[in-house]
Formats: sequence, C-alpha cells, structure tokens
Amino acid sequence: AEDALRQAQKMEAVGQLTGGIAHDFNNLLTIITGSVDMALRRLDNSADPRVGRALDNAMRGAERAAALTQRLLAFSRRQPLDPRAVEVPRLLAGMSDLLTRTITEAVAIAIEAPDDVWTIEADPHQLENAILNLAVNARDAMPQGGSLTIAAGNRQVAAHQSDESHVSPGDYVAITVSDNGTGMDADTLTKVFDPFFTTKEVGKGTGLGLSMVYGFAKQSGGSVLIDSALGEGTTVTLLLMRSVQSAEPPADAMDEREPFGS
Ligand code: ADP
Repeated sequence: AEDALRQAQKMEAVGQLTGGIAHDFNNLLTIITGSVDMALRRLDNSADPRVGRALDNAMRGAERAAALTQRLLAFSRRQPLDPRAVEVPRLLAGMSDLLTRTITEAVAIAIEAPDDVWTIEADPHQLENAILNLAVNARDAMPQGGSLTIAAGNRQVAAHQSDESHVSPGDYVAITVSDNGTGMDADTLTKVFDPFFTTKEVGKGTGLGLSMVYGFAKQSGGSVLIDSALGEGTTVTLLLMRSVQSAEPPADAMDEREPFGS
C-alpha cells in the first residue's frame, strides 16, 4: 500500500510538472508553426528549393511535437474516474474494430471472454484506454508479427494470495493481454511502471502507457501484474473488482448498461 501511495504521489507530481511544461511548450509551438506557415506562404518560385524543403521539415517536426504535447496534456489532465458496472465481454467485443485498425496485419488478434465473466466496477473509457495501451505495447514487442490474445476470466483472490496479487482478498475479473514478442529483461521489469521510462525510440513511446494503466488499476481498487520472459513474450494482467450490485440487474437498468461511447 505504501508503494501504491508513493507511486500515486509520484504520478501526481509528474502530472503537474508535465502539464506545466506541455502547456508552455504548446504556446511556443504556436509561434513556430505560425512563423513557418507565414514563411511558406511568402515563399516565391525564385527561392532556392532547399528553403522550401527545410521549412516543410520544420513544419512536420513542429506538428509531431504538437501531437506529443497533446498526449502529455491529456496525461496531466487525467479525467477523474467514472466507475460503472461494466460487462467485460461486451466491452472487448466493442473494441474489436479499433484493435484491428490499430494493430498491424502481421499480428493475429484473439479475444477470449466467456459470457459468465463477472460484471466489474470500473470506468469503461479508462478501461478501454488501458487495454488499448497494453495492446499497442504487445504490438510493438512483435515487430515481426505474432499473436496477441486478450482474455478475461473470473478470479477469486484468497487472503493468502493477496500479497502476490497486490489486491485485497475478494472477487476480481482478470483481463490478460498476452503477446509472444521480445519479452523484458529483469532491469526493464523493475522500471516499467515509472513515468517516462521507455525503451522505444524518440517519438514512438512516451513511457507513460504502463504508468497510466497502473494508476487506473490502483485507483479502481485493482492491480496490474506482469509476467514476462525474454525472447518468449509477455502477459500483463489487469485485476479489476467485481461489481457488488452486479448479481441481478433490475429490468429498468438495461438502458444504463449501454456500454459507453455515448
Ligand atoms: P511506452 O510504450 O511509451 O514505451 P510504457 O510505459 O507503456 O511506455 O512501456 C514502458 C516500456 O516497457 C516499453 O518501452 C517497453 O520497453 C516495456 N514494455 C511494455 N510492454 C511490453 C511488452 N508487451 N513486451 C515487451 N516490452 C514491453
């Protein structure tokens, strides 16, 4: 619990710092893109063609930087959780198109979520985001292709398993995202939840994916477990709490169960 608190405080500080920098940086980028745009429009045909190319490059670089600051701003302005009863099989089915569009063709995607999976209590948007983050990490770990499996199943955590699962004893749904990609070495494994830790090249990774997933899971009363073997692959498990009111939803609750996206 102390670890979780320290992580939460670290995330809070990082969020504030990031938000401040991203905000100022965004203003500076507006000056850059505005000036480059103006120069491009004033460029006449007699100019050295290299000038136009240089300005185009500057614009593209600034646009990439703007996209990155947008992600950082979104991170620092993390939305408060809006927990609801979520049916995981339905949520996963709803993500299937998005996943196919996001994951390269070389990666085969399988979703395994039996109907008897318990209803959980979580923020559906943030859960979707977390799963997408994990799927993108899995994809990035399989540049040559491979298989990505997203599965959901019920898990009862007994008192003696509470420590290893990093949750209080009780009923959970385990959502696992597995790949047969590069895996992680021991050193990487100790750092994966640190904000800004990334092994990806500049512009590809922010190092915020897993720290966001971790923050989401902890705030939801769940946890994230990672099982990885170098050269074999990785399984990330999200443990999320079973909804207490989920047993028998009254008939008039049906409308409320509209997944999300509304
Ligand atoms: P990012 O994806 O931007 O690098 P993350 O916090 O999501 O940030 O991940 C941090 C690092 O953890 C990655 O750069 C990578 O080294 C490692 N990692 C995460 N998921 C996987 C995975 N499925 N397989 C191998 N390495 C992974």
